[in-house]
Amino acid sequence: MINQTVLSKYFLLFVVLIVTSCAGNSGSSNTFTDNATKNGDLKHTDKASNHSTKVEDPASLYFSGDISTEVHQRMASAFSLIQERLGKYPTEVYVLGTNQEEKDNLASVYCQNRDNAGDIGLKNEYKNKQDCLSFINRPDHGFGHYLEKGLEAEARGAECTIGAGHNGQIQMNFHLLVWSKPMGYNDLQSPGYNCEFSLVFHEYWHVFQIAHTDPFICQGEGTEKNCRFDGQLQEKLLGGVWLQEGTAVYRQHTFQEEQFKIGNMQKSDTTLAQVLHNKYISGQQAMKECPSISLENISYSDPCSQAAYDWGAWAAAYLAYKVGDPYIFENKYYPTLKLTKDEILAFESTFGYSRQEFFEEFNAWIYSPENERNKVIPIAQEGTGRLYYNFD
Ligand SMILES: [Zn+2]
Repeated sequence: MINQTVLSKYFLLFVVLIVTSCAGNSGSSNTFTDNATKNGDLKHTDKASNHSTKVEDPASLYFSGDISTEVHQRMASAFSLIQERLGKYPTEVYVLGTNQEEKDNLASVYCQNRDNAGDIGLKNEYKNKQDCLSFINRPDHGFGHYLEKGLEAEARGAECTIGAGHNGQIQMNFHLLVWSKPMGYNDLQSPGYNCEFSLVFHEYWHVFQIAHTDPFICQGEGTEKNCRFDGQLQEKLLGGVWLQEGTAVYRQHTFQEEQFKIGNMQKSDTTLAQVLHNKYISGQQAMKECPSISLENISYSDPCSQAAYDWGAWAAAYLAYKVGDPYIFENKYYPTLKLTKDEILAFESTFGYSRQEFFEEFNAWIYSPENERNKVIPIAQEGTGRLYYNFD
């Protein structure tokens, strides 16, 4: 009974393991993403802004006391770059270090913020402060998990964060991102510097995606309106792991390429084509882990889930090239999804054919020669960073 209560209370929408190869270094970063939003009856708050409304304020970043102020600034600048492009959605970011006491202080900051936002009280998300602390310190993906990831990263000498993720909470009208120790921000010359920026772009892309979904089932009207978050509905709207993660990986690297050309980031020696080539190879390896599952159906728990990131990125690149717009996902696909609340319709109206037709085409194309495949990789214009294609 206890287990059931805990399970329904802290329903994990998805748990993700990303292995992101970072441009410019040979290391890799494992990024856990979990989205812990409770399934349950929730009073609709009728606030002026919700998780899908743009706000004036930039993302609020909260750091564990053992993270240096230089790191604060660098991480804030990464968020500022991506929010300027994708829009500011209400986002709180909590960055753990490796000190236990500071972790507890950060947990108190989280609950103080909830209290200030009116999320604590008998009829609210958390009954009391202890309820809030239990949530944020929950054993599976609470702050302690991210502290452990930081210790693990230090032990193995990782160059870049190995754990970061969107942790849901949109029923309280904000996006919760949690980070483990970001070691790559130490200075401009750090081998993991670009990787840290790229990871911010990736995770914020998930904020952008989720901001274009409405996974609430409501009854009644106005102040009498009762809404319930539905994890399965959110998963359905997000259209599959290949699309969710594939577009995130595609845009994290293309966005980084833009920033190189604008001069906001120091160019790495690894080209975008090399980054995607590496993803092609690792995706191919991952696909062998579950030969009976097609890319379209890969879930986060499958042994080949890495393919959803790596070949998913190729699928995203292919789709964008097909319609001749490297920005198609933010220009049309997600806005259409928001409008129609229908992932099948949004896909068809954006790409001109069904997902089934797309996969029939893509599953053959992905085995074409490298020079043929590379045509779908956009080029970033010097100076402006604007992405375009060289159509022959
Ligand atoms: Zn992701």
